[in-house]
Amino acid sequence: MTGFRNHYLLVKILLSIVTLGFAAGVGLLSILSLVPPALNTPASATEFSSAHALEYLKAIAVKPHPIGSPAHAEVRDYIFGELLKMGLQPQVQKATAVNTRFGPAYRAATVENIVAKLEGAANTRAVLLVAHYDAAPYSPGASDDGAAVVSLLETLRALKASTPLKNDVIFLATDGEEVGLLGAKAFVQEHPWAKDIGVVLNFDARGNHGPSIMFQTGDANGWLIDEFAETVRRPVANSLSADIYKLLPNDTDFSVFKQAGINGLNFAYTEGLVSYHSSLDNVAHLDERSLQHHGMYALALARRFGNSDLNGPISKRDAVYFDLFGRTLIHYSRATALVLSILVALITFSVIVLGLRRGLLTWSGLARGFLALLLSMIASALLVTLVWWVLARLAGSRLSFQQGDTWTNHLYVIGFVFLAVATTAIVYGCFRKKVSVENLATGALLWFLLLLILAHIFIPGGSYLLAWPLLFALIVWILKFTLPAEKLSLTKLCLISAVCAVPGVILIAPLIYQTFIAFGINLVGVIVVPLTLLLGLLLVNFELINRWLLPVALMVVAVCFIVAALVFGFQPPKGDEVFYALNADTNKAVWASGDAKPDEWTSQFLLSNAAAAPIDDYLPMANRKAYLTQSAPAVSLPAPVIDIIDSQVHEQTRHLHIRVTSAREAATLYIYSSNEFSEAIVNGQSLSQGQNVPAWEKDKPLVYSAPPREGIDLLLKTKSSQPLILKVVDRSFQLPELPNTTIKARPGYLMPAPFSYSDSTFIIKSFSIPYAAGVR
Ligand SMILES: [Zn+2]
Repeated sequence: MTGFRNHYLLVKILLSIVTLGFAAGVGLLSILSLVPPALNTPASATEFSSAHALEYLKAIAVKPHPIGSPAHAEVRDYIFGELLKMGLQPQVQKATAVNTRFGPAYRAATVENIVAKLEGAANTRAVLLVAHYDAAPYSPGASDDGAAVVSLLETLRALKASTPLKNDVIFLATDGEEVGLLGAKAFVQEHPWAKDIGVVLNFDARGNHGPSIMFQTGDANGWLIDEFAETVRRPVANSLSADIYKLLPNDTDFSVFKQAGINGLNFAYTEGLVSYHSSLDNVAHLDERSLQHHGMYALALARRFGNSDLNGPISKRDAVYFDLFGRTLIHYSRATALVLSILVALITFSVIVLGLRRGLLTWSGLARGFLALLLSMIASALLVTLVWWVLARLAGSRLSFQQGDTWTNHLYVIGFVFLAVATTAIVYGCFRKKVSVENLATGALLWFLLLLILAHIFIPGGSYLLAWPLLFALIVWILKFTLPAEKLSLTKLCLISAVCAVPGVILIAPLIYQTFIAFGINLVGVIVVPLTLLLGLLLVNFELINRWLLPVALMVVAVCFIVAALVFGFQPPKGDEVFYALNADTNKAVWASGDAKPDEWTSQFLLSNAAAAPIDDYLPMANRKAYLTQSAPAVSLPAPVIDIIDSQVHEQTRHLHIRVTSAREAATLYIYSSNEFSEAIVNGQSLSQGQNVPAWEKDKPLVYSAPPREGIDLLLKTKSSQPLILKVVDRSFQLPELPNTTIKARPGYLMPAPFSYSDSTFIIKSFSIPYAAGVR
């Protein structure tokens, strides 16, 4: 008898492992299907060819080309030239644009947008294709946003080779996106074509591979989603991300069009965050398939919208939508979603009543099941956060962090997933001693119901993630509470549970992965919450395993992955920072770095015992952050200049007209004022944000990118009778040339840290303009 019982136990454990493995396999399949489509080679003349687009990219993504740099002008000329070659009549829209709501500074620039129009045969409204051609200071911009620019160039080429469309298609390569969405602003506000736009398609990127995701839409997207679903062959999109994105501060050019009431779709690929805004964002590291995914969307949708009546009903109430395996888009109206949810809620209540009547559920048991899932979520989130915190401290600078990413993020995350599953198994093991599995599992489903209600109130686009998994999971308990007990053994229930969890796994597993991609490993605690929720659908499957066997086995696997992540985590290149700053008032200069200590390359500028201190005398925008500094020889470069064109007082208000120039034609000007101004106009553009706030607040700098050679004009009004103190800093994107000093080249395993001031020269000069100063 004992042998038979052991044998039977083994079969049960195996069944449990197999069903849990099956669920994990479905989840993995659903995550692995999140890849861009295979390359379409060779493509015919009317098809999108990524190979051809790549030829453009090899000319654009050669070196960093931030706005204001000489390389930026080369890229502008190249794109312009290619449009000419296609037989189009491109224009450069040169304008001053201002953004007062982009970070802690007023942003402005002289932008140069490149626009071209492919005339339609019977235009209703135009289709606008947008990507930005400026790049971050250290990035060749292959993915951000070169791949998008060349996808749109290639789209134009393919459209030109095809039968003409009904509507005009406008190509817009915006400038100054990275410094405040300024090119898009200038287009919307000033370009005559902006009034004629029916639909906008914007393309961007934040990594160097992964599928291009349609992650944001304008308001009232029902019609757009209908068209998108019918047109696109490989859709990757869901309405949850669109709703979440509304709550995040992140921005792309699309925000500007959305605010202007132009409806459309926004696309980006986001995997490989380590390359974001760094020198690794180059053609060699780009996945050509991601570029092609951009292009497939652009061409198909340009054709679709190009032949639609864009004067018709562009807006239709918001839709709920999600892709299945990146192959098809399920979409329905929010009204349908609400009906579905109400139906699911009614079924949930009926199931509970059935369970209570059969005596298989109790109110206190359900409450404990509800509590158990909450505790699992909290325990898993706390544990993985703690483990990551300890690892990050232990590994210290050995981890190549960038934007919350490491080279072995995926290994860490797999480890943390196992850790979270183990934690959940332990929590349930403890509860299971006192509570039946029916109560625990049905109590867990109440979380789905609660979150479903909350989703309808706050993020209706996310309702699909709860309604469908809950609906299918309820089947298990309808069967359990209606069939006679002897008809449904635990092993049968285990099989049914695994099958009924499939919709939940298919929908929630990619969400877990996408959350990890979007938020990075630093927020790993957030990532395990939906995972724990998902495990709530599979509680029956934990039932057949010995309470401690599973957690221990999972912990061992978790540790293996985490150790592997640590071992392989240190890979070059690693970012470092050094910049030069000269105070032209004192003629003193420093080398400075925000790094913890000098490395092999920065040590030629900084002694190993260099002290960290605030550098506000050189860089007011450093905001008293401590930098390692070392005194440096003063270079003979001209300091920024202020010319007073006019200075008058009318009715106790001081009117000033000044011109600020970077005498060395640097890329960026930072202007700090000791006063606030009731009116502030920069090259004709007002900084005003309304009646009740000063147009220019004290201590909030104006950052002007690509100032024209002749300088920028400021018209200022203030009530203050104090002398006006202005500090002007200009920044160029290279280190200075010093006499008798050769700067060693940076070794290949190091690179300028993204989002830093590295490899720049700053010159600061202060100006005091006395109250009485008249016309010069
Ligand atoms: Zn971008």
